[in-house]
Amino acid sequence: MHESFAQRLAANRLTRRDVLKLFGASLAASATASLSGCATSPVDGSTILVGMSEAQERAVDKELAPHQFSQDMGAVQDGEANAYVAEVGTRLHQKSHRPQMPYSYRVLNANYLNAYTFPGGAMGVTRGLMVELENEAQLAALLGHEIGHVNARHAAQRQGQGLVAQVAVSALAAASDARWQPLVAVAGQIGASALLASYSRDNEREADALGQEYMVRAGYPASGMVGLQGLLLKEAKEKPSLIETMFSSHPMSSERYETARQLAQGKYASSLTANPGRERFMDRTAALRAKKPVIDACKEGETALSKKKFDEAGERFGHALRLLPEDYPANLLMAKCLAAQGKNAEALRYAEAARQVYPQEAQAAKLIGSLRLALHQPEAAFAAFDQFDRLLPGDPGIAFLKGASLEAAGNRKAAAEHYARFLKTGATGKPAEHARERLKSWGYLR
Ligand SMILES: [Zn+2]
Repeated sequence: MHESFAQRLAANRLTRRDVLKLFGASLAASATASLSGCATSPVDGSTILVGMSEAQERAVDKELAPHQFSQDMGAVQDGEANAYVAEVGTRLHQKSHRPQMPYSYRVLNANYLNAYTFPGGAMGVTRGLMVELENEAQLAALLGHEIGHVNARHAAQRQGQGLVAQVAVSALAAASDARWQPLVAVAGQIGASALLASYSRDNEREADALGQEYMVRAGYPASGMVGLQGLLLKEAKEKPSLIETMFSSHPMSSERYETARQLAQGKYASSLTANPGRERFMDRTAALRAKKPVIDACKEGETALSKKKFDEAGERFGHALRLLPEDYPANLLMAKCLAAQGKNAEALRYAEAARQVYPQEAQAAKLIGSLRLALHQPEAAFAAFDQFDRLLPGDPGIAFLKGASLEAAGNRKAAAEHYARFLKTGATGKPAEHARERLKSWGYLR
């Protein structure tokens, strides 16, 4: 017996065809290349099983990376810092096994400590991590590690199509689990983090080894990797909650530190006389590092917010804003903190301030839409969601939010069009139930 798409989705048994359909046209186009099969490892020439062609790796970057970067509040508005990270990254990836990949680099506005890459080489380092680094060699170690993941094709190897399925399903789950009532809850986030979260320990070891190799090839002292691992080890011990994804396995950290140290003193000993670039690092990141008190206050506020300690969170975000009124993350986080307490009008003021500070970044527009909807201003809500959609196309939940705004404005025909579009993405859960129910009661569906 054949299962329906909805049944397969519910049972987490999506076929390859389903997944490609969900993933949209660009991935489907590249799927003419085989979805899974053997390839030669770019790193050592051995045969590896990959689930994504290079074209698909590129397509995944294009489709998902912008959404994840926006989740981390976008690239910092600091041209110097972004250009610097790109320069160091380029110096490294030119010495890697896959110099032809479409690498790109940015410092992200997020305050927690993290760095990640998409399979094609779209990379981000959080500002929270940047201000902890001590020199360029440590930055090179960090970027080298991420470039290592791209070169060993870890994302492509990891269960191949299983991974792609996981990403697509989590995109839908995020779209459908959102508490749509009240609609202040932000619906429809692409689950790109699924793509980034689960490298194996062997993958991490290999990325460390490749990272250290590339940084030495690019003329950095191998001690940069030791410094980076030491720093992460220290952070993991002191503030484990701030270490995410790539650094989450604590027992690994001391092993990784020890391995890096042995390689630096043995195989790469001759590199140790190279300049670690402390002055250059301090110089090029001066503006970013001047914001460290703001970043720390935001970090503390986010920790309080995650524990629903709203007063403490608000106090910390307020402190950050007194230090730097035009800080996009601080404004956005204050707005989220107030929205979480139902203080929608106040939240809107901060969300509007955030949008004014950084009009190219999409999250403020989405929050404004949600708040306008909660404040019974459906036309303004629609305009904000539409702006979000234009800034960051491809969010599966946005059609629902636009439909809900149109419904609230009494524009049934346009609302129905958006609900139908939302249901076409295969969405499930409360928003999908709502959309289907409306389409039925309005006579568009039987
Ligand atoms: Zn890693």
